[in-house]
Amino acid sequence: MAGFSTELIHGADSKSRVPDVTPPINVSTTYSYDKDPTKLVKFAELKVEDYPFDTPYYSRFSHPNSINVEETVSKITGGHAVAYSSGLGAFFAIITYLNPKKISFGKGYHGCLGIVDLFVSKHGVERLSLEDADLEKLGPGDVVHLETPVNPEGLNSNIKYYAEKAHAKGALLIVDATFAPPPLQDPFKFGADYIIHSATKYFGGHSDLLAGFIITKHAKDKVNLFTERLLLGTNIANLESALLLRSLKTLDLRVRAQSKAATEIVKYLVENKEKLPKLKQVFHGSLQTDAYIKEQMPIGHSPVFSITVTDEETARHLPSKLKYFHHATSLGGVESLIEWRAISDSHVDPALLRVSIGIENVEDLIEDLANALS
Ligand SMILES: *Cc1c(COP(=O)(O)O)cnc(C)c1O
Repeated sequence: MAGFSTELIHGADSKSRVPDVTPPINVSTTYSYDKDPTKLVKFAELKVEDYPFDTPYYSRFSHPNSINVEETVSKITGGHAVAYSSGLGAFFAIITYLNPKKISFGKGYHGCLGIVDLFVSKHGVERLSLEDADLEKLGPGDVVHLETPVNPEGLNSNIKYYAEKAHAKGALLIVDATFAPPPLQDPFKFGADYIIHSATKYFGGHSDLLAGFIITKHAKDKVNLFTERLLLGTNIANLESALLLRSLKTLDLRVRAQSKAATEIVKYLVENKEKLPKLKQVFHGSLQTDAYIKEQMPIGHSPVFSITVTDEETARHLPSKLKYFHHATSLGGVESLIEWRAISDSHVDPALLRVSIGIENVEDLIEDLANALS
């Protein structure tokens, strides 16, 4: 395998169908079968290794642009990537696929929790917490879902710990690594069985596409997930895939810069707290001191952090005092965002603001935040 940034640019070169440097956007939903009748095969009779992933026939199954993004993400994660129309599409697909009786879910993205609640109310799945006593109740085939770094604070949890707990019971560990995409974190290295990403965030990076991924270590899973995705109707769209392929080329540059800037800004806020009367608390992985963190996040921390301010009314008003931060939900884009999180997530402190750092000049962002907080 070539280096990370090389794979981002060239990972899908072998899938190229034309000499174009930037692959064309194929809008076709259907593709002609082979003209040679002797080459026509029935999908059901194929072996796993002969599965026609690379031969598009209907875009709900796959298309040239989805093949390109899946190949690139497979290369950079060392797994088998399956793309979806959104991060929640990916989470719904993995829960449908694994079909657990019990799911341990701690803190995390409210939409994933919403899906777990659907399985609880409609299919009788039991929801457990991530507390040790609950992990003890898991059985073979059950699921531990760990979001790390976690929404909205950007704090880390120990992947290895939860992998061991899950595996001791025959359960599987899914890690939602949206807040720390490669190159920041590799959950497989610490025992994750499946990784999911909302590619709407850092993979996309420009706040202009919706997509998601499941990444598995097993080729057989990929075949099964493809088969189920064809039925669920949740493949990534053609146009989104083309935008995503463009975005992936700069993932390394963007994420490193965003991570570095976020950590600098957090440091400033913590060190200058007395000068910022509205600021109450800062939450970020860079402020955690647990021993596992250096190993799990060797390059840097999530470009997302959270702050709490003195009261709810201050949280409501603070975004309107900022020049360079859009007051908007989501994260991972090149533009910095801030969100009074209570608007979209009913589970958080109403005095909390979630901050996603983009690639603007760090001094400008610090000055902007310092102004608003004083
Ligand atoms: C945004 C997000 C999701 C959902 O992704 P969509 O692409 O919006 O469906 C899932 N997990 C986390 C951690 C997220 O931030």
